[in-house]
Amino acid sequence: MQAILDLVRDVPDFPRPGIMFKDITPLLADAAAFGGCIDALCEPWREQGVGAVCGIESRGFIFGAAMARALGAGFVPLRKAGKLPPPVIGVDYGLEYGLDRLEIGTHALAPGEKVVVVDDVLATGGTLEAGRRLVERLGAEVVGASVVIELAGLNGRARWSGDLPLHALIGY
Ligand code: IMP
Repeated sequence: MQAILDLVRDVPDFPRPGIMFKDITPLLADAAAFGGCIDALCEPWREQGVGAVCGIESRGFIFGAAMARALGAGFVPLRKAGKLPPPVIGVDYGLEYGLDRLEIGTHALAPGEKVVVVDDVLATGGTLEAGRRLVERLGAEVVGASVVIELAGLNGRARWSGDLPLHALIGY
């Protein structure tokens, strides 16, 4: 995991003053580290009958799509408002500053289908939790979530649901 850690760049005051942004693009550009990262992200979900990986826009698409391929599952995007063609359902959720909305295609998942929700970074936890609610509203079963980076100081894990597993490759 140290190789992955070394390839995450800290960018102070981005995108706003006071925010320490975790830049994962050097990790994506390194073939061995990116491959190792996808293998490690998939590890908890092998042999679990996962039918779909739901990646959260936009960096969750990168990790989620690669995981779907590795797990032999489908990939379903959870997108920001207005990006998917109808019919869609959406959930609104609180960010550190303001509100946001995630949407999913109404026919994207089958009832009871096993789903892993994926994003790059867990901060306050609102985004991942919104992803879980969205998937469950379609009647699919969330078996857990994976993130590459958990910003543990922001306690986002406390917002994640009950007993469902939440796997993070790296914690800060
Ligand atoms: P949360 O809803 O507060 O947990 O924020 C998580 C969302 O914000 C994820 O979709 C991340 O992509 C994004 N995010 C928050 N902090 C960072 C960061 O430091 N680097 C990259 N993305 C971040």
